[in-house]
Amino acid sequence: MILDYSQFIEHYGSYGLNCLEANNRELFFEKRGFCPFCKFNLEAVHVNSLVDVSTLKGAEWHKAENVWECEKCGWWEYSFYSYINGEEEWGLKDWELTVNSAILREFEVASNSIPIEVLRSYISKREDDVFHIHHKKMEELVASVFKDHYDCEVQVVGKSNDGGVDLILINSDEPTIVQVKRRTDRRKTESVKEIRDLIGATLLADSRKCIFVTTSDHFSESAIKARNCALTKSLVDSFELYDFSSFMSTLNLYKTDEDKQWLRMLKLPESVWSYKLSEFAKPVINSD
Ligand SMILES: [Zn+2]
Repeated sequence: MILDYSQFIEHYGSYGLNCLEANNRELFFEKRGFCPFCKFNLEAVHVNSLVDVSTLKGAEWHKAENVWECEKCGWWEYSFYSYINGEEEWGLKDWELTVNSAILREFEVASNSIPIEVLRSYISKREDDVFHIHHKKMEELVASVFKDHYDCEVQVVGKSNDGGVDLILINSDEPTIVQVKRRTDRRKTESVKEIRDLIGATLLADSRKCIFVTTSDHFSESAIKARNCALTKSLVDSFELYDFSSFMSTLNLYKTDEDKQWLRMLKLPESVWSYKLSEFAKPVINSD
């Protein structure tokens, strides 16, 4: 089972002199930093705040940003709190709060409907589950990794094509033909037949470049010989082989923090002030 928290729901609340009607005011009093799935309190992983006195002359604009993230399941919550204290000069004494809470999505490892970025992030942490993913998803996974690695467009041809081509890399005038094998057993040997088939498919597609990717951990000796022979005889210009370890190393070269959605939400500059929303918000709200 893959747990994904890359999507979130936004809640917004506001009240004060400028709001004719308080909007979702309960939001200010809800408990923050509590994982709803694991049922325990979380320490904030990001705390930042500042008092802006330059945007509105004569007014203090307090802004605070907090993020909590559950170490156990990955659930997260981001909050942005704003309080403007400028009644005399601006007629403003207003509170605003935005809370983005991660939504839990669950996928079976073998599912064909799992979004590729979710699968890619998961496989980079749990390599051994690559043997259980859907064969179509393996093609998409290789396409996604090669798009970054070779910095090119990748066309997923898939099984509808009977020419033994799974992907085509569009990285020059001449496309690169890619064969992808998602083996369910790591110890499977890729045979010479697979290599010959790919050479044939490459030449029939009017290309001279190909790549064979497999989740098995080795190619047979005769398979490697056949590949070297195709290069020596200049049947093809390039012929790369990726086994389990080399594909995983490539995938991990482009590991990103993409699953940390909240990193993209941060908007306050680093400041010397740092306090948790709970320490900051309550006294202000109570004084209203
Ligand atoms: Zn949790």
